[in-house]
Formats: sequence, structure tokens, C-alpha cells
Amino acid sequence: MNNPSENQTDSQMDLILFGMQGAGKGTVGKAIAEKYNLQTFEMGGELRRLAQESSELGQKVKEIIESGKLVGDDVVMEIVENFIRGLVEGANVLFDGIPRKVEQAKLLKDLLESLNRQFTAVLVDIKKETALTRLTTRRVCDTCKEVYPEAYKEPNCAKEDCGGTLIVRADDNTSAIETRLNTYETETVPAIELFGKNLVKIDGEPPIEEVRDLAFEKLDPIMGYTE
Ligand SMILES: [Zn+2]
Repeated sequence: MNNPSENQTDSQMDLILFGMQGAGKGTVGKAIAEKYNLQTFEMGGELRRLAQESSELGQKVKEIIESGKLVGDDVVMEIVENFIRGLVEGANVLFDGIPRKVEQAKLLKDLLESLNRQFTAVLVDIKKETALTRLTTRRVCDTCKEVYPEAYKEPNCAKEDCGGTLIVRADDNTSAIETRLNTYETETVPAIELFGKNLVKIDGEPPIEEVRDLAFEKLDPIMGYTE
């Protein structure tokens, strides 16, 4: 293949991406979205975008944000539906960071089915101990926020034109991390299990380049991908 923009997928398939913090979900998600030309649905970005709109949904979102309230599941689904209806013909979606809980997972499945969309859940799977080790030892650039794994030993950011200082993130203390991982286990894991046979597991333990290749290997046939 010569031109990556000519990547072809011949069937409709949305992906719902799961992974414990530290699993490399962000990196893998970005690679998957690029390879299969997926439109990433990410709630934070979508909320900010909608709040700028004069549409009915945009105003609703703006009011919720300004009131400081949490966005309820019904509005979340309205936002997802709005996103899907705004897609160009034939586009596929990568859901990142949603659903987080069982109830949300049920609603999302129902919604996608009602819109006649096919979907597959994808889990980047790591052990909790791996997540803890990665999260407590990684550093982040104080300037551009790039995250560096423990294996990277230099004191400064490697990006050209940056050269910021690498620091341990303030929220990366062990008890805060454990709390987040426990929430994932009690709330998100049951949501993942709802997808049953419709779930693809990718081993997230190896180095990230390998995880990415494993993901491609499993997803190529599902995405109807041909080079
Ligand atoms: Zn940097």
C-alpha cells in the first residue's frame, strides 16, 4: 500500500474501546482510528464542541455544564445519537471512554442496535499490578504534557522544540491511582462483560508497538480491512 489515506474498509463496524488506565488505550486507540479511518467519539471534546452550538442539544449541554451537574445517561445517549447522525455516509466510530458503567453500556448497545449499527468491543487488557507499576513510575513533560514510561531515563522531553522537564504527575500518587483502578474494576469491568462474544481482547502487557500490532492483527478481519 502506498497511500495511507486510501485505506479501505468495506463494512460498517463501530469499535468500543476499553482499557484500564495505564493499558495504553490512548495510544492504541489513536493507531486504530488512523488505520481504519474511524471518527473518535470522546465525551469531553464532544461536550465542549456542543456547548458552542446554538442547537437545542447544544444549549442543553451548555446549561448542564454551567450548572456544574453531571451529564445524565439520557443526555449522553442523545449526544451519541447526534454524533452518529452527523457522520458522513459509511463512517465508523471509535468510542473512547464511554461506556463507563453497566447502565450506560446497555443504553449504548440499544442505541446502536436501533440505528442498525454493528459494533465490536475492544479491550486492551493488562493486570492491575502492571497498571499500578506503570502509573506510579511514568513521568510527564511539564510543558507539552507528553507521557513517558519508566524505561525512558532522560530528564528532559525528547520532542523537538520542547525540551521541557519530565516530572511525576501530581495525581499519580499510589492511593489516588488505586481508587481509580478499583472504580474501573467495580463499574467498568461489568460493563465490558455485557459485550460477551462481541468482545475482542488484546494483550496490553507487551511494549506498546507490539500491542498495536496485536490490535491490528485481530481487528483487520473485523474491520474488513484490505491493503
Ligand atoms: Zn515536552
